[in-house]
Amino acid sequence: MTTARKTRFVDCNPRWGTHYGEHLDRYITFDCPEGHVDCHHTIPVSPKRNGTPWLPNSVFWERRGDDFATMTIAPSIKRTPTNNDQCAMHVEITNGQITFAGDSR
Ligand SMILES: [Zn+2]
Repeated sequence: MTTARKTRFVDCNPRWGTHYGEHLDRYITFDCPEGHVDCHHTIPVSPKRNGTPWLPNSVFWERRGDDFATMTIAPSIKRTPTNNDQCAMHVEITNGQITFAGDSR
């Protein structure tokens, strides 16, 4: 089930969150911009919420800005669908605006 696509990051209910129980304010969770019901995404970002860089040994996204309304997250965010979850969201978030790649669905 799908509702309308969301083109503003703030409309995706972005929030600083947890990931597998970690409360470290280095993850941002948001509702799926594709409008999939009960579909959420959580990504690690640097710098962390308190402004300090996070340099893990794994992938993360670069965060520019503190306000979700004007935030830029780079590079693009792409989800690989699985048998259990067909979400294939592929977006760029720039200055709080969401643009969809051609293969996003
Ligand atoms: Zn989705």
